[in-house]
Amino acid sequence: MARIVEVATARMARPLHTPFVTALRRTDHVSSVVVRVTDADGRVGFGEAPQIWRVTGESQSSIAACVLGPLADLLLGRDPMLEPAADVHRNLTDAVVANGGARAATEIAVQDLLARDAGVPLARFLGGDARAVGTDVTIAAQGAAWDPAGPAASTFDQVKIKVGLDPADVDRVIEIHRTASQPVRVDANQAWDLATATRAVEAWLAAGVQLDFLEQPLPAWDLAGHAELRRRVPVPIVLDESVFTIHDLRRAIASGSGDIVNIKLAKCGGLHAGIELASLASDAGLGLMVGSMMESELGLSAAAALASALAPGQVHDLDAAWWSIDPVTDAGTPYRDSTFVIDDSPGLSHAVARVGAATLSWDVRADP
Ligand SMILES: [Mg+2]
Repeated sequence: MARIVEVATARMARPLHTPFVTALRRTDHVSSVVVRVTDADGRVGFGEAPQIWRVTGESQSSIAACVLGPLADLLLGRDPMLEPAADVHRNLTDAVVANGGARAATEIAVQDLLARDAGVPLARFLGGDARAVGTDVTIAAQGAAWDPAGPAASTFDQVKIKVGLDPADVDRVIEIHRTASQPVRVDANQAWDLATATRAVEAWLAAGVQLDFLEQPLPAWDLAGHAELRRRVPVPIVLDESVFTIHDLRRAIASGSGDIVNIKLAKCGGLHAGIELASLASDAGLGLMVGSMMESELGLSAAAALASALAPGQVHDLDAAWWSIDPVTDAGTPYRDSTFVIDDSPGLSHAVARVGAATLSWDVRADP
């Protein structure tokens, strides 16, 4: 028996080496909450929930309150070894509305504990055997310079260009495409309307730009607009902010709104929910990629584990931790040759050590 006797949270802030700008926000650091669960035998597991006001509505304070409140109510005193992963997920999902990042970090912490107990990396615990998964690298919005000889370009082949803040973005994509070795990915983070998106894609195609896909050009609620755009232009459309839950994905499929879904743990609420989304997407003939919010190596390691289990051959969207890991000085960086390398140590223990979880200041809720 190894019931959970303690749930704890700690705020984490990590500076970025380059500001990250999208149509939704600008930031120069990662702000997140690390969740730790401990069982009666002293085993631990960790997860990370990012503060993302403009996408999930969660803050460091709301995440900590949710984890130490209703989610801890649910976990304390239970033995996750005796419960199917699906039940843990369902119970966490039923405990609170929304709060996807808080739920995901808590579920991942439980899965990390179980994977460590089994002595295998989280990826392998989920059924993923890949030792590394492919990822793109993001080029931030608002005229951020792209250096074809810089550290990003020397590490990654696939670029994803953030647009939507500036009419000159259309020409910027054409320019970057000239130096890119692969068809480019473009992400507008909901910034456009149907007419603007149509004009942009037509301009790119006329200029000979090869597009891998266009991500979330229209507002999250505008499924009909995305469906109409798909009829107008021969470019795969990725749904990101439009799809949080399995219900969102069902609606998107029914309305023919997308070709690919970007699965993020902080949107869907955890690994099990991500696996459910992937299964539905696959049944409906949609492609998938695993993405993340602006998170540290800890959150990215969980996302890479999911990507390894779901679609190991795919180029995912897992570069977020690259922004807080100096690519020049950090020999331990998991980013190598356009991939996120999955460490061999049990669970997420390697990433937990790398982000310095032991030095964080913890708020603890213990079983009385
Ligand atoms: Mg996106």
